[in-house]
Amino acid sequence: MTVQTLPTVGHWIDGAAFASTSGRTAPIYDPARGIVTKNVALGSREEVAVAVASAREAFPGWRDLSLARRQTVLFRFRELLNQRKGELAEIITAEHGKVLSDALGEIGRGQEVVEFACGIAHHLKGEFSEQVSAGIDVYSTRQPLGVVGIISPFNFPAMVPMWFFPLAIAAGNTVVLKPSEKDPSAALWLAELWKEAGLPDGVFNVLNGDREAVDGLLAHPEVRAISFVGSTPIARRIYSTGAAAGKRVQALGGAKNHMLVLPDADLTLVADSAINAGFGSAGERCMAISVVVAVEPVADELIEEIAERMSALVTGDGRRSCDMGPLITREHRDRVASYIEIAIEDGATVVVDGRSVRPDGAPEGFWLGPTLIDNVPTTSRVYTEEIFGPVLSVVRVPSFEAGVELINSGAFGNGTAIFTNDGGAARRFQNEIEVGMIGINVPLPVPVATFSFGGWKDSLFGDTKAHGAEGVRFYTQLKAVTARWLDPSHGGINLGFPEND
Ligand code: NAD
Repeated sequence: MTVQTLPTVGHWIDGAAFASTSGRTAPIYDPARGIVTKNVALGSREEVAVAVASAREAFPGWRDLSLARRQTVLFRFRELLNQRKGELAEIITAEHGKVLSDALGEIGRGQEVVEFACGIAHHLKGEFSEQVSAGIDVYSTRQPLGVVGIISPFNFPAMVPMWFFPLAIAAGNTVVLKPSEKDPSAALWLAELWKEAGLPDGVFNVLNGDREAVDGLLAHPEVRAISFVGSTPIARRIYSTGAAAGKRVQALGGAKNHMLVLPDADLTLVADSAINAGFGSAGERCMAISVVVAVEPVADELIEEIAERMSALVTGDGRRSCDMGPLITREHRDRVASYIEIAIEDGATVVVDGRSVRPDGAPEGFWLGPTLIDNVPTTSRVYTEEIFGPVLSVVRVPSFEAGVELINSGAFGNGTAIFTNDGGAARRFQNEIEVGMIGINVPLPVPVATFSFGGWKDSLFGDTKAHGAEGVRFYTQLKAVTARWLDPSHGGINLGFPEND
């Protein structure tokens, strides 16, 4: 449904707003009011080509700018972002629905990556070996790829793009970002901020759209690399299509994150953590905890503690002082709520039913309150599928080993946490668990920007994770130089394969 009289969010190409002529749009909602507030242009193949051409033209100039000059732009961007992040948080809350403090939180984590990228001169340092052979030195440098594409999901409209573009740009690449069509305005705000920070036109472009724009980027021969974040089926397809077209691809997918609770854990910490990691951002986080795996006999007491805290949570408009906002769309809200019915059919126990929530907000908002389901069968779709909403399941297991086996049997491997005071058990968990990001008494183990973010198994397709050292590697290609400066003893003709002397 497109409402004709509303403003249309277009693209940002070559340092300026670019009005789409594709003729296709999608609605942008205010999820707390349940109304369409704007439309977003859905870019065509031709518009993809315009955005990529702008990035390609900007590439040589940006690549050749000194690291010191590039860093100056990054520092300015960081300062402006820090000063004006309140504006960005309001944009995020208006289109995504998450509460303002949470929107500020995601900006803060994105800003961390900008700060990491400010040190690009250090991250790009190569290696040097003197006199590897007589009179010969070898050294390596890291050089940018060219035009890179970034495709991001709805749930972190600022942070996820910022996992990628600060490093891509700092390393000398130029970017075309395709944000989620559900909340695209944050990306355009960031583009204007880059301009104010002094980034040359064409280095950072925003191309709005849906599958057509994504397919355009995947097929474009001048796009050298794709960083994708979204659901697993799309991530898998992006990886195989992009790799078949000869591109570097990192495609981060969905998740089903477990929290293993041992009987010796501090239950106050565990209950607080389950609430924060289960219901923050209405559970629409790829690192949200969606399953508590309780090693008996801890379950009954823990469920009581969690349910008690849930009764105090306020669901409502993120612009008010609520704990939890709405879901992104009505369809998604209904899909998430349908799992509560599935749980009942599958014989689970619904301890707290979020469908009865009375929100502090407009009745038409896409509301679903925090939901707690006990005794979830591991064969139920409630357990096996990513729900991506405020629905926390509890599975009871008899032992640590059974908990580890259960977690390792899942298709996803994004994040997990163990809660215990037993160092030996925590160490074994860290060693045996087949998941990419582990928390020990930490429920949302999102690594800081100096490390790299990414899961295992169906949660990441490709070889490199986001930001940190892996991010630098992803956005650069390694060049090795073997050098000899003329010396009278350099030898003469020799058709043999070069040997060292
Ligand atoms: P999504 O897969 O629907 O969309 C992600 C991006 O892909 C969007 O830009 C969208 O426009 C585009 N897209 C959608 N369908 C497409 C298609 N058929 N072909 C090509 N492109 C397509 O994901 P979403 O609903 O926006 O985000 C939620 C999902 O993202 C969840 O599964 C969540 O776990 C995952 N996620 C993962 C991480 C992580 O780090 N692993 C982080 C955030 C979100």
